[in-house]
Amino acid sequence: MDIQNIINNIPKVELHCHIDGSIRPKTILELALTGGIDVPFFNIEEAKRYLQITGECNSLKDYLDKFHFPVRVMQKKINIYRIIMELIEDSKMDGIMYTELRLAPLQHLKGGLSPEEVVETVLEAMKDGKDKFGVVSVLILCSLRHEPVEKSIEVVKLARKYISKGVVAIDLAGNESDFPPEIHKKAFDLAYEYGINITVHAGETGICANILKSIIDLHATRIGHGVFAYKDDKTLVYLIDNHIPLEMCPTSNLQTKAISAYCEHPIRTYLKNGINVTLNTDNRTVSNITLTEEYMNLISKLDFSMEEILQLIRNGINSAFASKQFKTTMLEKFNTYVRELPEICKN
Ligand SMILES: [Zn+2]
Repeated sequence: MDIQNIINNIPKVELHCHIDGSIRPKTILELALTGGIDVPFFNIEEAKRYLQITGECNSLKDYLDKFHFPVRVMQKKINIYRIIMELIEDSKMDGIMYTELRLAPLQHLKGGLSPEEVVETVLEAMKDGKDKFGVVSVLILCSLRHEPVEKSIEVVKLARKYISKGVVAIDLAGNESDFPPEIHKKAFDLAYEYGINITVHAGETGICANILKSIIDLHATRIGHGVFAYKDDKTLVYLIDNHIPLEMCPTSNLQTKAISAYCEHPIRTYLKNGINVTLNTDNRTVSNITLTEEYMNLISKLDFSMEEILQLIRNGINSAFASKQFKTTMLEKFNTYVRELPEICKN
């Protein structure tokens, strides 16, 4: 068996995957054409140019432009349901046993759905996806940085309603350069008071200070990306001492120009220095990547050993917003698979 097959088959988890950035291009095309949605593409190759990073991408803003059409097709229950089922099927093919999917619920109300209907449709598909594909998926609700804090408070209150029904956390996503974390403090204080898990996109686009602000001011216990932690020793020490997991997504970071070359990504240094690093895709369609391919990139471009790959997977399991008991079950499944690997594959 080749290394790609082995990594594909290792039971893995994913902690950072945006639903709207991970819809099959073929599905977006079909839903747009049959739903009368005005789109500038009429075949799959044209569609991919609007949905994926195919050539030059200059910034996070360019990257975020790829979400325009996916969000437009996610305004009906039937479409949302199909998209989630397909994403769970794709996760299954990628060897994922548990995935934390995220979306910003208030972006899906243009077709007349209520925020509750959006969340309930996703949760229904997640339940059916588990029955059909055996993959456990849970939901993280995102609030958006450019929206007023009142919208974030609405998302927090929505999360609270479904916290024992499949919603596991809230997140803050979007343009980090113009909208610092403290704008949303009131909402995240409320989430903390409610006992909701918190992860925040921070240090993705050069602003290292947002990492500690997110942890201390917004109560984040995990950080989305955290690429720029290396700019400040105090931040690095804090991450190590407090075992704060980083949800890292190197291909996405390359495309948003957070790094200028894959080999410059700090993930290796962070892992060696004892930071709790996890590996994720961010957006499967926009970045045109699977989790298996992302692990393969670490091996081929950053010379990761199999031992380091296994450590990243273990970190992911331990950092999940899941019960201790369920994490133990996942670790046992992972360990059983790894024990059976030939010795040569473990180094
Ligand atoms: Zn993200």
